[in-house]
Amino acid sequence: MIPFNIPAVVGKEAYYLNELINDRVKFSGDGIFTQKCSALIESLYGAKKVLLTTSCTHALEMAAILIDIQPGDEVIMPSYTFVSTANAFVLRGAKIIFVDIRPDTMNIDEMKIEEAITTRTKAIVPVHYAGVSCEMDIIMQIANKYNLMVVEDAAQGVNSYYKGKALGTIGHLGCYSFHETKNYNCGEGGALLINDERFIERAEIIREKGTNRSKFFRGQVDKYGWVDIGSSYLPSELNAAYLYGQLENAELINQNRLSSWQYYYEKLQALADEGYINLPVVPEICRHNAHMFYIKVRDLVERTELIEYLKIMEIGAVFHYIPLHSSIAGQNYSVFHGEDIVTTQESDVLLRLPMYYNLTKSDIMVVVDAIKSFYKNENRGVHIERNYISGW
Ligand SMILES: *Cc1c(COP(=O)(O)O)cnc(C)c1O
Repeated sequence: MIPFNIPAVVGKEAYYLNELINDRVKFSGDGIFTQKCSALIESLYGAKKVLLTTSCTHALEMAAILIDIQPGDEVIMPSYTFVSTANAFVLRGAKIIFVDIRPDTMNIDEMKIEEAITTRTKAIVPVHYAGVSCEMDIIMQIANKYNLMVVEDAAQGVNSYYKGKALGTIGHLGCYSFHETKNYNCGEGGALLINDERFIERAEIIREKGTNRSKFFRGQVDKYGWVDIGSSYLPSELNAAYLYGQLENAELINQNRLSSWQYYYEKLQALADEGYINLPVVPEICRHNAHMFYIKVRDLVERTELIEYLKIMEIGAVFHYIPLHSSIAGQNYSVFHGEDIVTTQESDVLLRLPMYYNLTKSDIMVVVDAIKSFYKNENRGVHIERNYISGW
């Protein structure tokens, strides 16, 4: 059995958890391990300020509060994303404006953003799918031109780069996920990256239930109280201790995943050359983190059959997002600007293969051989060539 995901354990996690349990000084949030994690993320990726959160969902919610989203404001994002990207802003009363994605990276099509901007537009939320960066230079240019905020959903993009800059550090705010399905995890967890210093003070308050408790602990005020809206967005030290063991070994995990990604790519190349499948595209200016290995097949029917076939062979391959504009809530809270040319078509044919830390080469070969046997034995005929528009 080769599952789709196994959460990473690299060795030091239990040691730090034990240390914490033995010390019994502080289990709640913002202790030593939270500080260590934030400092490490700041120094590794060059963020001005990092606040650990209970999830990426909560980091996105904090971002929506920080950029002061008001009822009726519009927020531009791709429809091909996780529900939290939209929900965080809908909770503040925003209307979500979806624009189409690019077929090569599955990221928001930067050339379609400008035409979706109105006087109500407040923010752009690029989602770095599979840890491959959106075209951030153009997105930041548009944001500057119209005075918009940029919140990066970098849930999948921890330790990925765009032109040498770490994802999550380019927009005004960035959001990371440490959910067990992500590259570095603590079960459930996340981080808010604050790149625009104006947001630091208020972010600390929002994260601490709307109180200035952080300032109090630093001795900057002599009592603390309720000063703003907020919630409980700080994770327990137990989560942070586990996470520190992962972040300390980020490069170990990264290299291991990248070599699996590369192996898949090489071994599936022949099938792609013969026109059966398409392989993922990583633009030259992006350094990705092998968050995901996906293939694209001919159509929805073929994908359903392939998932079923792999399931019989005990291989966990899964499809991904159902575009949000076609969901029940999406119909209430969003509109799709322009035509959906790529989003639905490409999401229908994308299939994610098993990918996790310490996935073995022999297991990858089992997956590759299963895919090959699916196409070769069934004699399924060759794909129609899809011509990717290469904008970069
Ligand atoms: C995983 C994910 C999230 C949510 O992360 P949580 O930490 O589980 O809240 C948000 N956006 C994207 C693109 C994701 O992949």
